[in-house]
Amino acid sequence: MEQFGKLPGIGARTAERLAFHILKASKDEAMALARAIHDVKTKIQPCERCFNLTEAQVCNICADPRRNQSVICVVEQPKDLLTIEATGVYDGVYHVLMGQIAPLDGVAPEDLTIDALVERVKGGTVSEVILATNPTVAGDGTALHITALIEPLGVKITRLARGLPSGGQIEYANKSILSDAINERREV
Ligand SMILES: [Zn+2]
Repeated sequence: MEQFGKLPGIGARTAERLAFHILKASKDEAMALARAIHDVKTKIQPCERCFNLTEAQVCNICADPRRNQSVICVVEQPKDLLTIEATGVYDGVYHVLMGQIAPLDGVAPEDLTIDALVERVKGGTVSEVILATNPTVAGDGTALHITALIEPLGVKITRLARGLPSGGQIEYANKSILSDAINERREV
């Protein structure tokens, strides 16, 4: 109960329920959970190319010959990569920053994988870098920092479009979303 209670979003009642669930579960089921926790801390490591989480040296996206290796989508977290993968519309590769530049929280550019990204671009086979950092002050700041570093290398740099969400209504959109949508309008 004590251990479950330390997990994010788990209160005392839920921790109790989970603990009793494990107690009642079959040995196989309980050990599968224990093994998964053990494996995630011993086998999972960052991909040596893109820093996505993997059990191999190079992740299965980087190793996939069908992926377009000349387009790199830069995301903050492995979770963002999974979310973009789930859309099924992107066939390039990734670069995971492992965070965003946040001086107030003590996160400097050197703490992220930005140097490795610059090296990948310098390699000469990259044609486009898509900046998919979060549309927040820190995410924008991180994107700006990266742009300043890779722009001189002559690579095409794009940013994810921002604006109205699909299924939304204009009258309920806030000012910043609507101004992004107006500024990023495109020809039909
Ligand atoms: Zn990779």
